[in-house]
Amino acid sequence: ESQLNPNYSFENFLEGDSNRLARSAGLAVAAKPGGTSFNPLLVFGGVGLGKTHLAHAIGVDIKDKFPEKTVLYISAEKFTQQYIESVKKNNRNDFIHFYQIIDVLIIDDVQFFSGKSGTQDVFFHIFNHLHQNGKQVILTSDKAPVDMQDIEQRLLSRFKWGLSAELQHPDFETRVSILKNKLYRDGVEMPDDIIDYVAKNIKTNVRELEGAIISLIAQSSFNKKEITIELAKQIVEKFVKNTKREVSIDYIQKVVSDYFQMDIDTLQSKTRKRHIVQARQLAMFFAKKLTKASLASIGSQIGKRDHATVLHACKTVDNLSSTDKQFRKYVEDITKKLSV
Ligand code: ADP
Ligand code: MG
Repeated sequence: ESQLNPNYSFENFLEGDSNRLARSAGLAVAAKPGGTSFNPLLVFGGVGLGKTHLAHAIGVDIKDKFPEKTVLYISAEKFTQQYIESVKKNNRNDFIHFYQIIDVLIIDDVQFFSGKSGTQDVFFHIFNHLHQNGKQVILTSDKAPVDMQDIEQRLLSRFKWGLSAELQHPDFETRVSILKNKLYRDGVEMPDDIIDYVAKNIKTNVRELEGAIISLIAQSSFNKKEITIELAKQIVEKFVKNTKREVSIDYIQKVVSDYFQMDIDTLQSKTRKRHIVQARQLAMFFAKKLTKASLASIGSQIGKRDHATVLHACKTVDNLSSTDKQFRKYVEDITKKLSV
């Protein structure tokens, strides 16, 4: 059982500037699994930009061209669960052996391995075995290897051996062609100005783009409403509102603490540990920048601090981001994550 989803094909993965490198690398790997320098091929990018789809597409294409090859798709989370299970049942060796005889191993969302040293260790051995034997490894992640945290150096260096290709936010033309393809496959007709309207107004991610068009189709077919710009506006507004509502102080704390891989309690704690203080200051800075909340209210929501602490945090972040390169990168990365 390869666990591949045939609907996630290359044919259905529309090409655009945002994904051309990753898509082409995927096609090259599918034509010669294990036989290119793209080994491993690591596809990275934000939520809903097509990592899982592309990973499946490569596997589906390989299975099509080389039916005798064993191709396995698995999420990093499931791989981890299986590994833990094998340790419990005392058959870690069987687990390793199972993976070492696969021709094409696809692991989705490897950022999940962060901080899990047992799983990283076993994956390191499996990876080396596969690589040495000319087998293909395909990985996806929500970040580039340089930005991954709590992954052992020796594994990170393996990740960088092949090619890391980013999936970026699709531009307008690509969004239109993704929508048209979706409508075509569903056999639904929709006026061009409506498609343009949706593509123009939903830039966040492809999953949301599809979500909007699906609710538009549902509204029109189940509620028998005519698809008008008015209806499109209502639906798009719902999506846009939802995204706006997300930028709350809670959401900011979640994004910042995820970024530093700590939980919100840690971020809010009284500790003076430098990296935690910095994370907290960044959360305050973004709360000031992106919400209408007062300094006092920001302070009370981020670990019960007073308004002077928040003011100090904002100044510190301003200063550090102009003097400290690493810190500036934090600000840029988090800005990206918050500005959906
Ligand atoms: P990720 O794994 O990066 O979060 P997914 O692969 O789950 O994203 O993609 C989200 C949705 O968007 C899926 O339904 C996928 O088919 C669709 N999608 C993403 N990129 C494209 C593309 N270039 N062409 C067509 N559909 C796409
Ligand atoms: Mg995914």
